[in-house]
Amino acid sequence: MTQAEKNAKNDPSEYTSWKDLPIGAVIPTAGNSVKTLTGKWTPKKIVHIQDKCVKCNKCVPVCPEACILKDKEGKMCGVDVEHCKKCGICVSECPFDALKLEDME
Ligand code: SF4
Ligand code: SF4
Repeated sequence: MTQAEKNAKNDPSEYTSWKDLPIGAVIPTAGNSVKTLTGKWTPKKIVHIQDKCVKCNKCVPVCPEACILKDKEGKMCGVDVEHCKKCGICVSECPFDALKLEDME
């Protein structure tokens, strides 16, 4: 299947990398992030420093992608790195420097 044909289908499962997307591409299918690992679409990575984290949960409501993970007690326990878009909002909001963005190696 050509890329043009994939685009015509608007099927996000066809996109395995941002490199598959044409410039200005739009994926209008609702809920597409389940199938599309958008966390790999940026050259950054989010790091959760567990030793610094006091589980205050201030990072949870600010994430626009709902990527902050919670444990059974409802406390922050990590980040869904496969879907985090590396916007850095949680990094700015964490009062304990327990989140940071790093360049991919
Ligand atoms: S805001 Fe920082 S300290 Fe609080 S739960 Fe999130 S990562 Fe942990
Ligand atoms: S960097 Fe942005 S998308 Fe990623 S976990 Fe933090 S707030 Fe969410």
